Amino acid sequence: LTLLGIESSCDDTAAAVVRWSEQDGAQILSNHVAGQEALHADFGGVVPEIAARAHTEKLDHMVEAALQGAGLRLKDCDAIAVTSGPGLIGGVLAGVMCAKGLSLASGLPLVGVNHLAGHALTPRLTDGLPFPYLMLLVSGGHCQFLIVHAADRFERLGGTIDDAPGEAFDKIARILGLPQPGGPSVERAALEGDPKAFALPRPLLDRPGCDMSFSGLKTALLRARDGALAADGSLARADQCNLSASFQAAITDVLAAKTKRALAAYAALAPAVPTLAVAGGVAANQTIRAALAAQAESAGVRFTAPPLALCTDNAAMIAWAGLERFRLGESDDLTLSARPRWPLDTAAAPMLGSGK
Ligand code: ATP
Ligand code: FE
Repeated sequence: LTLLGIESSCDDTAAAVVRWSEQDGAQILSNHVAGQEALHADFGGVVPEIAARAHTEKLDHMVEAALQGAGLRLKDCDAIAVTSGPGLIGGVLAGVMCAKGLSLASGLPLVGVNHLAGHALTPRLTDGLPFPYLMLLVSGGHCQFLIVHAADRFERLGGTIDDAPGEAFDKIARILGLPQPGGPSVERAALEGDPKAFALPRPLLDRPGCDMSFSGLKTALLRARDGALAADGSLARADQCNLSASFQAAITDVLAAKTKRALAAYAALAPAVPTLAVAGGVAANQTIRAALAAQAESAGVRFTAPPLALCTDNAAMIAWAGLERFRLGESDDLTLSARPRWPLDTAAAPMLGSGK
């Protein structure tokens, strides 16, 4: 089976071709991503209208590049997978329209994919993980523990009750005067900082369960920064680095402590190959990866994290999630709609309204 994947739910326009066979397993034949950082740089965040227009302009070209990279023509594929939510609606619509056009022109089936399922199923693409595995999905807009029972069955154990960590990294970068996206720039600054320099809270650790909160951390960091500002309103490089390191340490501690609890709940299932996997943009963070690996090790559980390029948004994960759906005999028709909100655990039963 060979699927073309299309992703345009946020600020990355992406297309990829993924192949799977019983014999060779999963193979990424091509994986093309075009970011939009430069377009949004002046605005301190992603502007939905600008993003949607850029997707529309770039999608055809990215699809062309992905097919060419794979050495295939569209008719060599078996289906077209596209992110149909959740995300910025204009971008999702641009991708869905593009996929529908290609489907209509080629006669290939259309497979709508939940973007979060794309992230959550990535470890099956990269490491061939068997079900059920424990997934920490930690990205720009989401943070949740999921037991992945099947490609269409996700059980949510808990998650953030306010901000997502990626969003917090991005806001903290803005507060500290570091470039966007915030995750990589805060991680870089933290390398030169002391994680104990500023005492920041570890919210909700006293509460049972796997729920998390990150908005108080952001407020605490803002206060700490104001205390560190010089008379002329500037922030010394050392403070920038120390604040970054202290913030990263707090997020890491919370994620690690809650992972320990999620692992305990997962252990009750007595899975054949107990595995903790992490995915989403924040999974690119080395300090967080190391802390999660340590939790897994002390619980006697295997740990996997995708290569960095497959943590942040990409179309290989969409092609793969589409392939998993397609393999189950599911596809969509031209009534496939774009969904701005689409929680993964309710995606379980009929994964899509128009699913056949
Ligand atoms: P979602 O998947 O929840 O819809 P999204 O698609 O916008 O949101 P991703 O592309 O999965 O999110 O991840 C982007 C987020 O990951 C950004 O907030 C970015 O700051 C964060 N991120 C990227 N690299 C790192 C890193 N090295 N450390 C921490 N955060 C990172
Ligand atoms: Fe994402």
